[in-house]
Amino acid sequence: MITDTPVAAGRARRGQTLPLSEVFGPTFQGEGPFTGYRARFVRLGGCNLSCGAGAAPMVCDTEYTWNSAKFDLAVECPETRTTAILEHAGRISAPITVLTGGEPMTHQRKPAFTELLTGLRDLGQVHVETNGTIPPAADAHDLVDHFTVSPKLTNTGDPAGKRLKPRALAAFAAEAPGKAVFKFVVATPDELTEVDRLVDEYSIPHPAVWIMPEGRTAARVLACHRSLADAILTRGYNTTTRLHMLLWPEEDRGR
Ligand code: SF4
Repeated sequence: MITDTPVAAGRARRGQTLPLSEVFGPTFQGEGPFTGYRARFVRLGGCNLSCGAGAAPMVCDTEYTWNSAKFDLAVECPETRTTAILEHAGRISAPITVLTGGEPMTHQRKPAFTELLTGLRDLGQVHVETNGTIPPAADAHDLVDHFTVSPKLTNTGDPAGKRLKPRALAAFAAEAPGKAVFKFVVATPDELTEVDRLVDEYSIPHPAVWIMPEGRTAARVLACHRSLADAILTRGYNTTTRLHMLLWPEEDRGR
């Protein structure tokens, strides 16, 4: 049961910095097992992958958090004190904070990251969205309530050795389905066989697998989802839509 918490500023006060893209909410978590829950989002800059770089359309929908060839990251993701991030987050009333990116786990060894998680815990549950390439260190593991792990498939363009890190995937799989779930973005039924291989290889429990349709428009999300639904059911996986694409199709930030 997730309960709302009083708006508060958090207890971290020392003011280390992290590259911050945006803090927004309240909105709805649009993807995965917590779809529809009210949430605040904290989006950090930086990523260790480059999904779809150079492709059209671009696979990554938050390219402004990491692609220095196209964006001025000092402007898009300025170094921001954790106190300021927590103050902003604390003004948003929601039971869940979704910490996302970019790839937020690239910062997990920084004292600022621990400060941020510690402060966000004062506001309610902390959920981290990750590409699953970096196993959680002890602090991150203990301070995060839930990980949504989204391993990237061949369709994202990065080589397998870069996007699939066995030690990290095994670490997250060991936490599934209690503390971690796996969310795969799939465009065609054929791509589900690639998911099947990963699920088998890393012994990911089927109840921890969520298939999400690819798509940047409501029409594309719905059409893709319909094409996948039966095959998802047959395999015993779960599924999720992309709620924010259906509700706010014209708004690609702050939703
Ligand atoms: S891992 Fe996520 S944020 Fe990083 S490039 Fe891929 S889609 Fe974008």
